[in-house]
Amino acid sequence: MKAIQYQTIGELPVVADIPLPEPGAGQVRLRVTAAGLCHSDWFVMSLPAEAYTYGLPLTLGHEGAGIVDKVGEGVTEVAVGDDVAVYGPWGCGHCSECSQGRENYCPFAADLGIYPPGLGAPGAMAEYMIVNDVRHLIPLKGLDPVQTVSLTDAGLTPYHSIKSTLAKLPAGSTAVVIGTGGLGHVAIQILRAITGATVIALDVSEEKLTHAREVGAHTTLLSNSDAPAAIRELTGGIGADAVFDFVGATPTLDIARRSVRIDGAIESVGIGGGTLATGFGSTPFGVSVRAPYWGSRSELMEVLDLARSGHLHVTVEEFPIDRAPEAYAKLHDGQVLGRAVVVP
Ligand code: NAD
Ligand code: ZN
Repeated sequence: MKAIQYQTIGELPVVADIPLPEPGAGQVRLRVTAAGLCHSDWFVMSLPAEAYTYGLPLTLGHEGAGIVDKVGEGVTEVAVGDDVAVYGPWGCGHCSECSQGRENYCPFAADLGIYPPGLGAPGAMAEYMIVNDVRHLIPLKGLDPVQTVSLTDAGLTPYHSIKSTLAKLPAGSTAVVIGTGGLGHVAIQILRAITGATVIALDVSEEKLTHAREVGAHTTLLSNSDAPAAIRELTGGIGADAVFDFVGATPTLDIARRSVRIDGAIESVGIGGGTLATGFGSTPFGVSVRAPYWGSRSELMEVLDLARSGHLHVTVEEFPIDRAPEAYAKLHDGQVLGRAVVVP
């Protein structure tokens, strides 16, 4: 079968021909119907050899959807032909976090050698993939897999972050979204759907800002050192109640620090390698800073429900599997509007 693999440190991923995997006991094989490209794949592929821990070759793809194709011994909860999305942050399945469906915060997964698909385990960017356990499969219930697949990360991650700050975002509040790409353009829609906040979106690209307004941002600003003053002016001098940074570089975290109000929240979601000065004199009084990771299983169900009720629309650029390396190059160069999705 075809699979998109990262094979050599520092080089683009390639289309490889690898054996069809067989599901073991308790596992499920999916015929992949869609796989999303995430900027985190570029984080992984930008690591120097000494910092790279994901194994080579790595079949990419941590946003996956598929049709159940074959089940391993003992699997009775799904049947061949079921249409599903894959919950990606696999945990040990037994600890208190995993018991609450918060496998994204399982403290044992890494030590047990349990990795998400595409981030250590073979991922979704292939014609077939193995899912370790049926609990990671969420029924699509009529949702289109190509339009929906990115909700498993580009939807779930901002949803988890926004839900965690919900108390700060009543009617009359202001939320700032920095970086309106894959995650950011869904974040804007989630903020509009589940909070009372006015949404100010920042990006470095005018095209992305136009897109941000199309998906629901009330106001857009270029992301530069003038943005904090503009945000203060738009909020009557007070600042934003919550800032969601989907870049996470030092200049964007600095915008977050200078834009947030007293007792507000900064959610540093992007993994752009930046650091944020916190503490007395750096962040306003009372500000909480958080670096959330992905989301819980039940939150993924909620995100899919929001899509079913018409509140979320991922802007998708489709690529056949042979063109996945080109799609990665476009993502790297900031040329993807919304999310690039590979359809094997
Ligand atoms: P993306 O490439 O689709 O979008 C990034 C956007 O940021 C683009 O629109 C780009 O123009 C914009 N941008 C770049 N520099 C900027 C700046 N200085 N100011 C404002 N905007 C700027 O990326 P994505 O897939 O949406 O991922 C966003 C970030 O979130 C990445 O760092 C990714 O690794 C990270 N991520 C984190 C988690 C998590 O669990 N914490 C999960 C998924 C992705
Ligand atoms: Zn991701």
